Amino acid sequence: MSDRNQWKHDPRQVLRAGAGFDVRSFDRGGTPGWSRDRATGEAAMVERGADLSELQERLYADGRTGGTRSVLLVLQGLDTAGKGGIVRHVAGMVDPQGLALASFGVPTAEERTHHYLWRIERRLPPAGRIGVFDRSHYEDVLVVRVDSLVPEAVWRPRFDEINAWERRLVDGGTTVIKIALMVSYAEQGERLMERLDRPDKHWKFSMGDVTTRSKWSAYQEAYAEMFGRTSTEHAPWYVVPADKKWYARLAVTEILTRTMEDLDLGWPAATFDVVQARAALQATMVRPPA
Ligand code: AMP
Ligand code: MG
Repeated sequence: MSDRNQWKHDPRQVLRAGAGFDVRSFDRGGTPGWSRDRATGEAAMVERGADLSELQERLYADGRTGGTRSVLLVLQGLDTAGKGGIVRHVAGMVDPQGLALASFGVPTAEERTHHYLWRIERRLPPAGRIGVFDRSHYEDVLVVRVDSLVPEAVWRPRFDEINAWERRLVDGGTTVIKIALMVSYAEQGERLMERLDRPDKHWKFSMGDVTTRSKWSAYQEAYAEMFGRTSTEHAPWYVVPADKKWYARLAVTEILTRTMEDLDLGWPAATFDVVQARAALQATMVRPPA
């Protein structure tokens, strides 16, 4: 494994939303835990990506041999926060066969006839996989709250419900890592403007993005309460400053890699006699069968 000690502090400690975490004073342009420069960070990310790739293969092998473990990376963040970039640049460093990607948009007519966790459960990663959620059940306490899609008496109990649901998930062998990418108001404005400046980005823009941006304060408040209520021991939130894309990607890579290192996954032992198998194969090496 390559050197993880380039980090001054464990990003899982410095980015974790613990008691007293204040999202309003949170510096979205910072690089907590990382005091080196961007180029060093980009090189470190590539190295850790190789470690991550091997860990993913171990997890996959475990799943193929009866193991029940899986990993779920939940990505939340407003438009332009960089969720797609994490999928491409972080998840993109491992074998796509080991991933289970899901993105959650406005619920479909069918989804609306079910409990809000129904569509989430259907996309949970099977054993051996790393699931990546681009948005998640947390939209049901974020956009749903900000846009008053259901009354408070309906969304407020969801905090406890989500905590209990994630508890069961973790007890079933899924390691849950929740990442919130937080951009500053100014940076979000620039990223949205870039979508208008560049014809190759027009497809990413929607007028709804401007409407969402106009509710900035309400979203900050919704995120703040979400962190306070759902950053649990079993499924903590990591709040990642997202104005510097290179840092956000580096930090998520490191959080994911360290978490998977802690799973302590070995390679599955052979379920056959290796010596005997080698002898049987050796006997075929002389010439093709007649
Ligand atoms: P995008 O990620 O740009 O494809 O946008 C997806 C949109 O779906 C966002 O505007 C979300 O706010 C919205 N969305 C996701 N989940 C829900 C939900 N449960 N209820 C309402 N809107 C949602
Ligand atoms: Mg969008």
